[in-house]
Amino acid sequence: MKKDDQKPQFSRRDFVKSGAAGVGGMAAALASLDPKQLEAAEPPKRWDKVADVVVVGSGAAGLPAAISAAENGATVILIEQNYDIGGHAIQSGGAMALGGGSKNQKKWGVEDSPEKWYTDLINWHDYRFSDREIVWAFAQESAATLDWLVEKGGVTLRDTKPGNPDGGPATTPRAQGPVLAGWDGNAGGISPTGSNGTALMRPLEATARKMGVQILLEHSLTDVYRQGEFTGRVVGIRATTKGKPVTIQARRGIVIATGGHTSNVIFRRAYDPRLTEEYQVVGEPYSLQTGDGELAGVRVGAALWGAANQTNDTRARTHVMEKPVLIGNQFGYLRPGTRSTDDLVKSPVFSRFRATGLAVKDFQNVIHVNMAGVRFVNEEATGWTWWNACMAPNAKTPPGANGGGPIWAIFDAEGATREEWVCKPPYVDLDGWFFSADTLEELARKVTCRYQKEPLPSDALAAAVRRYNSFVDAGKDGDFGKTSPKFKIQTAPFYAAWSTPCAHDCLSGLRINGRAQAIDWSGAVIPGLYSAGESAGGFMQHGLAKCLTFGRIAGREAARGTART
Ligand SMILES: Cc1cc2nc3c(=O)[nH]c(=O)nc-3n(C[C@H](O)[C@H](O)[C@H](O)COP(=O)(O)OP(=O)(O)OC[C@H]3O[C@@H](n4cnc5c(N)ncnc54)[C@H](O)[C@@H]3O)c2cc1C
Repeated sequence: MKKDDQKPQFSRRDFVKSGAAGVGGMAAALASLDPKQLEAAEPPKRWDKVADVVVVGSGAAGLPAAISAAENGATVILIEQNYDIGGHAIQSGGAMALGGGSKNQKKWGVEDSPEKWYTDLINWHDYRFSDREIVWAFAQESAATLDWLVEKGGVTLRDTKPGNPDGGPATTPRAQGPVLAGWDGNAGGISPTGSNGTALMRPLEATARKMGVQILLEHSLTDVYRQGEFTGRVVGIRATTKGKPVTIQARRGIVIATGGHTSNVIFRRAYDPRLTEEYQVVGEPYSLQTGDGELAGVRVGAALWGAANQTNDTRARTHVMEKPVLIGNQFGYLRPGTRSTDDLVKSPVFSRFRATGLAVKDFQNVIHVNMAGVRFVNEEATGWTWWNACMAPNAKTPPGANGGGPIWAIFDAEGATREEWVCKPPYVDLDGWFFSADTLEELARKVTCRYQKEPLPSDALAAAVRRYNSFVDAGKDGDFGKTSPKFKIQTAPFYAAWSTPCAHDCLSGLRINGRAQAIDWSGAVIPGLYSAGESAGGFMQHGLAKCLTFGRIAGREAARGTART
């Protein structure tokens, strides 16, 4: 780390206006959001509330941060934008890739160590582009975090041998899931989608409340306050609740755990211009990843890190962008089977996601066409191969845009029967995400939506289907190598279902060090500011494990008032 005398010699105003080059490059790129958003706010003279540690966000990073800060003697206020806690984490499958020699691994006879975990992480193809200081800290604290979740957090682990992480090196079993005591496999009314992440997040919420953490729901972070121009401590935050501002002083530290920026199209396009508006975000519409935390951090001088990770061509299933698990609805990723359709329809968020979607069992039953009506990929492909093809600009990409546009799964009545799909609400969303017609020409004319401004060109769609049907006759896909195409698309009605990649994890964010301290553009620690989870950058690992681990580290370090590295 740089010393104080190496602090950047420029003012906040210069920083904001410094153009595309130099330390302010990314910040300036973000200036297109709204110039005011990059001006740091002055601390208020009087605070509405006060705590030692203020945690922002109640997901996989925020709740552990709050518990860990309280455990280390701090008074804690946690603010959460949503009407309930949990973020993406409560909707997750709950599988935690926490290894390195945990008590649970030992119980099941799994031999592991932090060194082995670290070596696996840096050598695994998908995670190798990570900041190794962060990976090392994770490997060191990973097992202790799992033990702590059980012993302190109140989480009960499923009584089964750990398995291999979903997206992660598979040399040693390191993935384990939580179970909710007395839970019979369906979390019923206590989870927005019935996902297993409930069994992780509800116990953590209960523990935090028991430890005196004040949880303020429907409070949305807008600003972090910092004393001096890029030199002083951060001293508090401003939030809004029901349209009114609230200021909260943080005597020891602030933890930004807002879950990243995948819901913020301008922000995410600063990382990769192809990440245009049509890509929906898994975890929405229950909770948003708006980039608020990163933006508030950037305004007080925090750097961003690991930008390329958001769409790195790792050629594997990394949870960067995803093939939707469900088609014909907007968000593509409610986990099928976690709730019955009846249950989902009654869920408090059904009015927001509007349809449960259709799960594709066999991609032999559909073809994928892009917004130009052209088939462009082997539908059976997964991971990078599939979504990278989807995101390539095509003949219909308008000037000034860079993404591949909507992707539609085209199938016929026989395909629907083989898949046992019911092609009507509440399974599909007729409001721009699913269409049907008696002819392909009519179908093409109908397919328009907010992201498909002009209908699918009917000649192109008809030609794509004709050519694909000829591959079925030939028993060979002459264009993209799909394994022996089996079924023609020929029987009315014909269908088009939204099947566009969705953003899964947010893998870039605020720069932190191994103690979860936020770092500025000169490489110096910002005193009092911490970040964890998907709003922190530098570590490509998928999912909960790094969020839980760095949340715990951040809360502890904030409570201890760690000064500098
Ligand atoms: C459907 C699904 C399944 C998944 N399954 C798995 C799995 O099995 N295993 C795994 O390892 N990972 C899984 N993941 C990924 C995992 O859930 C995330 O990586 C993890 O939850 C990220 O944690 P986080 O704390 O960074 O963000 P989140 O858990 O999203 O929490 C961030 C919180 O911050 C709040 N917030 C945002 N902005 C503000 C603001 N301005 N002010 C106040 N609060 C704000 C949000 O509302 C949210 O509650 C899954 C994700 C999804 C969506």
